[in-house]
This record gives sequence, C-alpha cells and structure tokens, in this order.
Amino acid sequence: MTVLASGSKGNSTVIASAETRVLVDAGLSCRELLKRLAMANEDPAALDAILITHEHTDHVAGLAVLARRLRIPVYFSEPTHRAWVRQMTPRTTMTYAKWLEHLQREKEARAAQDALENGAVGVLTYLEAASGEDDPDEDVPEAATRRDPASLPAVEYFQPGTNFSIGDLMITPFTTPHDAADPCGFVFESASESIRMAIATDLGYMPPNVKRALERIDVLLLESNHDLEMLKDGPYPWAVKQRVLSRVGHLSNHATAEFLARDYDGNATYIVLGHLSETNNVPELALLSAEEAIRERGKLLGNRILLAQQSAPIASICL
Ligand SMILES: [Zn+2]
Ligand SMILES: [Zn+2]
Repeated sequence: MTVLASGSKGNSTVIASAETRVLVDAGLSCRELLKRLAMANEDPAALDAILITHEHTDHVAGLAVLARRLRIPVYFSEPTHRAWVRQMTPRTTMTYAKWLEHLQREKEARAAQDALENGAVGVLTYLEAASGEDDPDEDVPEAATRRDPASLPAVEYFQPGTNFSIGDLMITPFTTPHDAADPCGFVFESASESIRMAIATDLGYMPPNVKRALERIDVLLLESNHDLEMLKDGPYPWAVKQRVLSRVGHLSNHATAEFLARDYDGNATYIVLGHLSETNNVPELALLSAEEAIRERGKLLGNRILLAQQSAPIASICL
C-alpha cells in the first residue's frame, strides 16, 4: 500500500500485489498524481485500473484526465458513475433515457478510437488540442473527448457487497455510510500471498457491515477525520459542522478510537490513519487518540500506527 495523498483536500492510494497494481481514487490533479507516483517510485504505466470509492471531488478531481492519459479502465458502482457523469456535465439533468444514450455514445467513441488505433485512418477527425483542458499535457485529442468531459477509456461496474477480481487481486467493496450516491470502501486480497489490505475512509460511523469487512486485515487505512472539540469551536459554518458530525459524514478521532478499543480484532501489522481534516484536526491528536485506544487493549502487538499525509506520499507499506 502506497498512500499518495490522504485528507479532505485529495485522496489517492496505490494497492499492489505480485501481478496487479490499482489506484484507489484520483483526488488530485492528473499532474499532481503523476508527480506523487514518481515521488513514490511507482510507474504510472504499470497501473492496471483505477477504482473509485465515491464521487466527491477529493476522490475524483484528476480522474478523467488521468484515466485517459494512462488508457486504463475505471471501476465504479453504477450509481457512483452516474453521479460523477452528472457532476462533469453540471447543466444537464440526466433522465434514464439520456443516460442510456450517453453510454451508447461513449461506447461508439471508444470503438472509433480503437479503430483509429488499429490503423483505420479517417474514422475520427482529429482536432487541434483546445485550450481550457485542465491538463494541457493530455495527449488524447479525439473529438469525442472534447465534446464529453466524462469520457473514459473503459468503465467497469462493481456492486458493493459483491467481490470481483483484477488480475491476482480479489476486491470486496463494502457500503459505507456517507453522503454520496453509493459510497464504499474496499478490501483487497492477493491470491498468492493471502495478505489483506483495506481502505475505510469517508464514513459517518462504524456500522456492522464495515466492522465485519475490517476483520483479519493486515494493513488498514482508516479515517480519523476530526477532533470533536476543534470541529465544534472551529470556523466551519453550522450546516457544514452538522454534515461532518452526522451519520453520513466523517469519523472523528474519538469514533476511530472507540472502534479500535472495542471492535477491532487487533490483527493488523499496520494501521494508517487517514483523511485528516486540515482545519479540524492535528496529526498528533489523531495519533495519540488511536495509540491510547490500542494501548487500552494491552495485548495487541504489531499494530504500528502511521499517519497518512495530505501533502506528500508516505513510504510504501510492504508485507
Ligand atoms: Zn466524501
Ligand atoms: Zn473524502
């Protein structure tokens, strides 16, 4: 697991097994994501797919440009994909008929692109790269992309609760309580090494299905978003405070500590605290709170607690 960025301003993590590499979320600009990958000695060309937890900007900011640049498929749940497409084309309210039409157009654009790559000249008219694209380095100048900012090289759907495989990685998405269309976390298991890693951020509380999903995990990226006092006394407007604190908001240091003290099985070699708020948390507070919770359990060895960072990748965790 390599956490490239984690926090309210952007999230992205590489999960790799012996044969497969996936990027979970793309919440920074394409340029910044490529920079972070380089800093972490990760070859972007080695990525097999991008997986998306939910459509909030801090998880998808660089998605379209990065996926088109790397020409790799993006895995969403269908409601999350729909919400993302709507977000990318904000002036359209999309009916289901329109949505089907959109999928058809995307399919045709991909087929045309494939034909073009296979040497069928003249299928698509190339346009001069227009200005205004969020990443001027992008090298996919086909007409379809210019018309449709939500166009992707390929889209695959998964359903939370149902596992699927990419190469030798088995992936189980699980539903999280959060104010998005169909938010989820992921458990990753490598077929050959029987190591399990999980990502659980952006959740208002710890429901039973999440607790179950986080059993027997070796490396756990877990949200520790805010300190309750800092949030209450902080600068956020009342409505935003309510949202963060709600059952579909984010886990506080306190809620995370409560999970670690009461429900967590103590199995992990590493627990990485992530999605810290820059406004309403201090890394030292989050760390202290989690360490105290683990210490109360007495018998738990291993369980090294690390802090993910917003501004730079942290060292890869290899088991
Ligand atoms: Zn979110
Ligand atoms: Zn988030």
